[in-house]
Amino acid sequence: MKNYTIKILILTIFINCRFGFSQPEIPVEKWKGKTVLLVGAHPDDDYMSHGTLALLNENENDIFILTLTTGNVGTKDLKISKSDLSKIRKEEQLNAMKILGLNEENYINLGYDDGRLEFANKEEIIAKIVYYIRKIRPDILMSFDPGYNYQVWHKSDHRAAAYLSADAVRAAEWHLMYDGQIIFDDLKAHAIPEFLFYGGNPDDKNTNVNIEIYFEKKILSGSKYISQWSSGWDNYLGSNYKNYPDGEKERVFKWLRKKTKFIDGIPVEQFRYYKGIPDRMGHGKRRN
Ligand SMILES: [Zn+2]
Repeated sequence: MKNYTIKILILTIFINCRFGFSQPEIPVEKWKGKTVLLVGAHPDDDYMSHGTLALLNENENDIFILTLTTGNVGTKDLKISKSDLSKIRKEEQLNAMKILGLNEENYINLGYDDGRLEFANKEEIIAKIVYYIRKIRPDILMSFDPGYNYQVWHKSDHRAAAYLSADAVRAAEWHLMYDGQIIFDDLKAHAIPEFLFYGGNPDDKNTNVNIEIYFEKKILSGSKYISQWSSGWDNYLGSNYKNYPDGEKERVFKWLRKKTKFIDGIPVEQFRYYKGIPDRMGHGKRRN
């Protein structure tokens, strides 16, 4: 057994003893044939999971990304309009997905305004997420962690996304909720059995995914968010690093590498895994 594996095992036992919750019975690295839906607030929230998405895609899982906002205020560049930024950020996200091997057809953007998700019509958003849950019928939901025994503080759109997706998951399994979708859209109620929550409290994370093989792919896909993580944040000069000051690409790559979590020299992505009914995803001891 590799030194790394032993350390991960000890860490897992420690976490399980401390918090009483479980990792997946089958490690994420061995998941196959599953349908995965990732819900994010902005067109770069998926980056936290890019190594895992690349791995899951390679292992013949079907991956969908649903982004709630267009990301249309995420810039300090005074020259860019909201509509231009929406287009830029959509292009960046699709370019990143392409690197990960994900299809454009598997991308959904609900088009809400960046920074104002909490003030949008919540029931309308939940109904839309429910629609896609019933249509896609995922086995796994990946989303911002709504919290475990307490609410996790996220910045506004992220906390809205955490709760909206959790509430949508609950609604999707009841056929009399949003029953117009069942009657008129020929959809069926759907219960999502497993969850990988990202972006939560580090103490709550119980699952490390080894992304060593996909690390460079993650860095490359992350580098596509040029409006967010380069000098393009202040002064956007297009989607090609050639238009930017010397060494820009290298700086972004270096920053993304530094941002990655390593355990014993191995790059990992960390999640809180949960299996069970939506009502218990945020509290109590796991039954499994
Ligand atoms: Zn975000």
